[in-house]
Amino acid sequence: MVDETRELLRSAPNFPEWKNLPLRSELQEILELPVTLDNDVNAFGLAEALWGAGKGKQCLLGLAVGAGVGGVVIIDGKVFRGFRGTAGELGHILISEDGPLCNCGLPGHLEAYAGRAAFDKEASRLFPTGELPNPMRMAELAADGNEKAREVHRYLAHYLALGCATLIHCFNPEAIIIGGGTVVNAPYLFDVLRAEVARYTMETAREGVEILPAGLGYMAGVLGAAALRYQD
Ligand SMILES: [Zn+2]
Repeated sequence: MVDETRELLRSAPNFPEWKNLPLRSELQEILELPVTLDNDVNAFGLAEALWGAGKGKQCLLGLAVGAGVGGVVIIDGKVFRGFRGTAGELGHILISEDGPLCNCGLPGHLEAYAGRAAFDKEASRLFPTGELPNPMRMAELAADGNEKAREVHRYLAHYLALGCATLIHCFNPEAIIIGGGTVVNAPYLFDVLRAEVARYTMETAREGVEILPAGLGYMAGVLGAAALRYQD
């Protein structure tokens, strides 16, 4: 998370020692170039809104399902930052008060049900012997009709749908764009996800809301970072 002035890296679950680090000015000094600081998933969302799956849409949400589940809210074509800059932490939507521990240390968040740890746990349960399929392989197996791979994807899609249902009720977005290494090239997962979203969302709220795979792949964060520079 980055503060509202976008000078400080406030905290990063994957770098626990980094707290209130003046990363922008430190990088600028080292690089001798102008630096804009932001959260990588905000950059991903902005790029998808400008050039990817969300092109032409003004109100959209993004989920980056990788090691964790990152989130971004785009309103009127811009990243919505909230009170102190931490808006859009959509992976920490509460799914269950007594659920598994999230990477943030709190129980029951979406990230703990749909991030890479959840994928690995389900994959090991269903593929107890031999090499564990990585997300790319799992998606191929699911597309080929492998029932075990499909079960892994049904699990992830179910919990992502619970998160999306809450998001649709809160934001009524034009689209929710979902990317990240855990759900890449996974048409079966998206089919289940759309059906599950319909099951848990009020019809009027979800009318016309699209659930789309991200369009820019691994370059989205880089493109979005460049776009941030020009939006400031
Ligand atoms: Zn969390």
